[in-house]
Amino acid sequence: MNSDSSLRFKRILLKLSGEALAGALSWGIDVRFLDYLSEEVIKVRNLGVEVAIVVGGGNIFRGRSADKDGISRVTADYMGMLATVINALAFQDFLESKGVPTRVQTAIEMRAIAEPYIRRRAIRHLEKGRIVIFAAGTGNPYFSTDTAAALRAAEIRAEAVLKATKVDGIYEADPLLHKNAIKFEKLKYLDLLNKGLKVMDSTAVSLCMENNIPIIVFSISEPDSLVKIVTGHQIGTFVGREEDARQG
Ligand code: UDP
Repeated sequence: MNSDSSLRFKRILLKLSGEALAGALSWGIDVRFLDYLSEEVIKVRNLGVEVAIVVGGGNIFRGRSADKDGISRVTADYMGMLATVINALAFQDFLESKGVPTRVQTAIEMRAIAEPYIRRRAIRHLEKGRIVIFAAGTGNPYFSTDTAAALRAAEIRAEAVLKATKVDGIYEADPLLHKNAIKFEKLKYLDLLNKGLKVMDSTAVSLCMENNIPIIVFSISEPDSLVKIVTGHQIGTFVGREEDARQG
């Protein structure tokens, strides 16, 4: 690994939604896309960036939807958290097959397959160049993996939450439905909360705001997006404090 002082961020928290892991599929894991994603992540890790990842589970199971189908919300949420572990193990396997050391840490203990989440140990892994994948969300029902991403970012003192999505930033309206929708280059945390932009839930945004952790929403499908972000290029949408949102 190199260590480059020109890096904009030296420790990042990458949020990969279940949707990202589904790639071109409507459900499950797209192994070809997972292969691509692991290459993208390894590129920034090899620049000397410490990479922690929170994976979602929506490609397999979402608590809120199952709630409607007769499974209680709490049970459904635990099922959703288990889905994130399936994704984490798959992603770990791809990263390790390319020779990169990784650790999965789960918020719900399952020691036979992963370490339990231990903050200091996670930081130690990062310092040693290991990619750490946080799974099972926050370990609590009624939360999301976006909130888990904000929480873990604050705990490990990540310098930014990079939220990978299918679109290249935050738009005033869904760009897939509204062709002329305008993309925001920069936003304040409060804009994200007040404009009703459904990019991240309010708990996650509030946590980032309170801890002054910038959020960058970007498209992971564009090759080298992660490299561009950590080396200081303005891509996607930057969300931060008023003064930071002005400068970017
Ligand atoms: N979940 C939860 N607590 C958490 C994180 C996740 O209960 O701290 C459950 C919730 O049911 C959620 C599911 O896990 O629907 C999958 O997570 P999420 O929907 O955030 O995944 P993503 O949208 O990123 O794929």
